[in-house]
Amino acid sequence: MSASPERCPALVLNADFRPLSYFPLSLWAWQDAVKAVFLDRVNIISEYDTVVRSPTFEMRLPSVISLKEYIATARRPAFTRFNVFLRDRFTCQYCGEPRSSHDLTFDHLVPRSRGGRTTWSNVVTACSTCNLLKGNRLPEESGMMPLRPPAQPSTLALQENGRGFPPNFLHQSWRDFLYWDTELDPA
Ligand SMILES: [Zn+2]
Repeated sequence: MSASPERCPALVLNADFRPLSYFPLSLWAWQDAVKAVFLDRVNIISEYDTVVRSPTFEMRLPSVISLKEYIATARRPAFTRFNVFLRDRFTCQYCGEPRSSHDLTFDHLVPRSRGGRTTWSNVVTACSTCNLLKGNRLPEESGMMPLRPPAQPSTLALQENGRGFPPNFLHQSWRDFLYWDTELDPA
């Protein structure tokens, strides 16, 4: 039995056959993937069993496509809540507990009330307990030092971290293009 088209997103690879992004994983809805095929912007690398038909054509939906033209990825990642969590691997930088994003918050090393700014180098991922505990104090005053000194991460570093958080749904045809280090068993 083939899946319905709505359950057939295409994994989008750059022209170097690496995913355009890991987290979130670069996926296009089948309509966008088919459109890009007809516009000759992508190569089809792999297909689903699912077929879509119109009066004039039919095709199997692509499961993996690669762009014909390489897209340069941003050198400097955006300073977003999500990217800070990703930099810190969704782990409280004080107690070291990994948590899901809705259980996490931020801590300003130098509190805002004392002139601290909201920047890569002054914001760390924290659980709410540690955040409360540290309160309005400097790290030296509270004795709470972050596990790693915060800094702006490279796009590559964020991508590497994203590989550690695979999406819920992985089509088998995507596996060749993802998670080489974990899927390939050199036994
Ligand atoms: Zn904590």
